[in-house]
Amino acid sequence: MQCSKCHRDATIFQPYSGLHLCDQHLVADVEAKAKKMIRAQGWLRPGDHIGVLLSRDPRSSALLYFLKKLTAQRRDIRITAITIIGRGDSCKDALTAKRIAECLDTELLELSLPEISGNGRADDPGKDPDLSSVSPLPTHSPKACSPELNGFAQQHGITRIAGEVCLDEVAGMVLESIIRGDAEKLVRNRPGQEIFPRICPFIAVSAAEVSRYAELCGFNGEKSLPGQGDRLHKDTIDLLDRYTGNHPATRYALMNLGENLAFPRGITGLIQAYESGQGCDEDRIPYEVMNGTR
Ligand SMILES: [Zn+2]
Repeated sequence: MQCSKCHRDATIFQPYSGLHLCDQHLVADVEAKAKKMIRAQGWLRPGDHIGVLLSRDPRSSALLYFLKKLTAQRRDIRITAITIIGRGDSCKDALTAKRIAECLDTELLELSLPEISGNGRADDPGKDPDLSSVSPLPTHSPKACSPELNGFAQQHGITRIAGEVCLDEVAGMVLESIIRGDAEKLVRNRPGQEIFPRICPFIAVSAAEVSRYAELCGFNGEKSLPGQGDRLHKDTIDLLDRYTGNHPATRYALMNLGENLAFPRGITGLIQAYESGQGCDEDRIPYEVMNGTR
């Protein structure tokens, strides 16, 4: 199949736009969407010091690459990489982060944490034992250590923390909130409850496209592990994957719905709900408990 924009072979199809894109046009498309989001949200301002969270997911390296490229001519904006060292494969992660930061000629800050329980539910008897054996929690789950991360960023003069969150994650969160009967989560983040400013330039780009973009930028490696969370979380992700197959614009529709529910904070409110609402949300009732299946 030929690219819809040039004569090269297409490598990816965007069902929601009907376009077939070659690698070059996919890169241009991902970057255009990220730039548009940054402009619309006012996420890069003179004097900003952006801390990019490097995780094992190559999408985070791609985010660092993109922001470095975007600000290459901007002397008034500083980009720094942050890696969170906690437990497990810390040494390996630290070396990988160091190598990526060096490749991209970026200063790297290491936030060392004592052993953390990842999603805050490591000892939860309701946790699926099968998954715990095959999908250890990422060492640096930003959501699990927000207070430490925020303090660390502040201490280093960072003005915004950038994360790799993309469309699939926020759309999934919106749908899950509705299914759980907790859409309130999206609207209750009112001004005055701000977390440290977060920016997610890839928030309007699908995970598949960001992953391909990361590969094309030369970053390969371990992908984010899906399915952390209870049964309802996993079922929601499966449901959304299947439904999007027939209705390709669904994730965008969910993000728009979430943005409207989070009014007046919009995307910022959505990011805040995502950061605060998964894993470490103490008052979230596990689906199995609610339904008496355990
Ligand atoms: Zn093309």
